[in-house]
Amino acid sequence: MTIGIVGGGQLGRMLALAGYPLGLDFLFLDRSADAPAARLAPLLAGDMDDPALLGELARRSEVVSFDWENVSVHALAAAARTARSTRIAPPLRALAAAQDRLSEKRTFERLGIATTRFANVESRAALERAVRRIGLPGVLKTRRLGYDGKGQFVLRAAEDIDTAWQRLGTAPLLYEEFVPFDYEVSIIGARSRDGSIVIYPLNRNYHSDGILRLTIAPWSVPGLARAAARSLTRVLEAFRYVGVLTIEFFVHRGRLLANEMAPRVHNSGHWTIEGALTSQFENHLRAIVGLPLGLTAARGHAAMINLIGTLPPVRSWLAEPGLHWHDYDKHARHGRKVGHCTVVEASASRRDRRARSLLARLYPHLSPRP
Ligand code: AMP
Repeated sequence: MTIGIVGGGQLGRMLALAGYPLGLDFLFLDRSADAPAARLAPLLAGDMDDPALLGELARRSEVVSFDWENVSVHALAAAARTARSTRIAPPLRALAAAQDRLSEKRTFERLGIATTRFANVESRAALERAVRRIGLPGVLKTRRLGYDGKGQFVLRAAEDIDTAWQRLGTAPLLYEEFVPFDYEVSIIGARSRDGSIVIYPLNRNYHSDGILRLTIAPWSVPGLARAAARSLTRVLEAFRYVGVLTIEFFVHRGRLLANEMAPRVHNSGHWTIEGALTSQFENHLRAIVGLPLGLTAARGHAAMINLIGTLPPVRSWLAEPGLHWHDYDKHARHGRKVGHCTVVEASASRRDRRARSLLARLYPHLSPRP
């Protein structure tokens, strides 16, 4: 069976790595002929919204999925119509909701999932009203195409409205309260076509400059994982979702506030490759092809560190006992995720010590630390 994947980045590459043992084949569509997935599977090179290429991807695959959530819903739906026996998973309704911060927030609200207070901003006057209603500080975000903190502006005083509007005012926007959160977590789970659901242990995530640096899992605060799993289940069921879904939360005064969702495997779930009984990549594939979902329990206490910009010397890093290395085969570039590494330890305290020492080598200035 061939899985067509829109986007051939590291997520697509890790999907293929997880899929070959299941007997699956892959076909990718990516802008770049040397995208990370290209070494592993055939790749159609061109615009990811190109109707002809999406049509070809759909005709040559039994299931079409995506590793990049900004693919055009419209173009994907049109491609599906040209290849009627090809299924698309996750469902396009979920993809559409996740692409737009406004519909994402409304989805959370509709499902009774606490989220940050927000207002739609369609003009400068609307921004002024939103700032008055929601207060300062606040974050102005583009509704679409934002990632890793891009397309965001933090307003601390009324005088910032001018600058914020100049920076972002040409795109549809959302203003939300700035949450002085204690820390960030994410939850990842999968739903299969028959409606069964599996959910991974909670992840605690450490960002710097808007980019995820470190995930530790399981993050076991009584009640928190259960509350996150309840929210995830609601979203999975509301969309009759098929595949892996992620929700990111702020933890503020002991409560979860949903920040955003991703209709795909997620960077904060990379630890599951070595740290869980079944990886998020394998469970995504199992879900979309209709195989039984795999167990999600942790094998130990995992820390996943993103390698950003350039890869450190592999020889000295592999000398670290038990370190698992993932090179995405990407060119070095400032701020780019070029790989990650994972360690799995027998206890949370050993894991945290390990993570601290690895982080100190990579990111001496990162704070906070585990
Ligand atoms: P996002 O693209 O929404 O995931 O935002 C990227 C990062 O910016 C988040 O992981 C937070 O660290 C920070 N951030 C986003 N929204 C807020 C907010 N409303 N309050 C405080 N920090 C935020």
